[in-house]
Amino acid sequence: MDGTAFCIACGSPPPLTSTRLCESCLRSRTKFSTLPERVQQHRCAKCSMYEVEKRWVNIGEEELGELRVRENLELIDGSVGVKVDLQYQPIDERTSRIYVTVSGDLEGYEFHDDHEILLQTSNAVCQSCTRKAGAYFEATMQLRSAGRRLTDNELKNLRGTLDEILNELESDPMFFVTKEGPVTGGWDLQLGSKSLARTWARKLVKRFGGTVKETSTLVGMREGTEVTRLTLSYRKPAYDLGDVIRLKKNDWIVNSWQKDGPTLRSIKQNQRIGVTWRDMEKATVKCSLSDQIVIDILNLDSSGAEVMDPSDYKVVTVAIPYDHDRSCSSLRIAFIDDTWIALPGHRGVE
Ligand SMILES: [Zn+2]
Ligand SMILES: [Zn+2]
Repeated sequence: MDGTAFCIACGSPPPLTSTRLCESCLRSRTKFSTLPERVQQHRCAKCSMYEVEKRWVNIGEEELGELRVRENLELIDGSVGVKVDLQYQPIDERTSRIYVTVSGDLEGYEFHDDHEILLQTSNAVCQSCTRKAGAYFEATMQLRSAGRRLTDNELKNLRGTLDEILNELESDPMFFVTKEGPVTGGWDLQLGSKSLARTWARKLVKRFGGTVKETSTLVGMREGTEVTRLTLSYRKPAYDLGDVIRLKKNDWIVNSWQKDGPTLRSIKQNQRIGVTWRDMEKATVKCSLSDQIVIDILNLDSSGAEVMDPSDYKVVTVAIPYDHDRSCSSLRIAFIDDTWIALPGHRGVE
């Protein structure tokens, strides 16, 4: 800088900024930070979610206040080391005041601004509440059992897995149930989103086995695209994990679910097989898991165990299963064809 430099605004001698202003002219011409005096926001009158960046979210008021400051704060180009402090003060249901202090450096000079924002909340209805009110649905889920009526308990367990999805923290706002109720042989539900229906169907199959049939129906056109509705029909098998079933004259325990059908474990010998859902249509349940009993061993020899018959308290001898661990003092027994049978896979008190 040569000796003739001076402030372009007032003619003062150096020191000068890069734009040739003295400190006092820099300060009088600079708005270090700007914030609006009022900020308007929307809250859903039905579910109390707030609109943030075109989405509806559950958020605490104070955290939301901070977010509004971040959204609206403008800083001058070239500012460094900026610090923002704020104090949130609720006034009433719809209004709050935020005191904001902004500090930082510009051209080596320290700046410090105080702001006050009035945050006003007005009522709106979010997309998901609008759709719920309009009985909107994208998918139908049909819960059925293969070959018989679902019991109340089965229905409760199946329906419970939907609540698990709906209660997840990051659950999509379109994940809602529009309508549900009993139908012959099962339960039908209308759901707000196709993706909810598919997520639930996957969960049902993983937990309870069975199959899902998917059909799509064209319901109209909207803005040049086809609008379709999805119907998912879930068929729960007539048996559960742990049940003893008879298939082609052999008895098996239902061991696990796979895509094409369950795996079965023989009750007589160390053998496991995979079968299809179709194969299993010929199977009959001989003793469900809930009818099986864990019972103490009274006496054990090389081939059999004495136990007390739970129906008449007489001592009976049952053959010990092929995988019996001799340190285990109990057996799991099932009443099949008028006889108590000890089952493999039992590992002590449950
Ligand atoms: Zn000046
Ligand atoms: Zn809402």
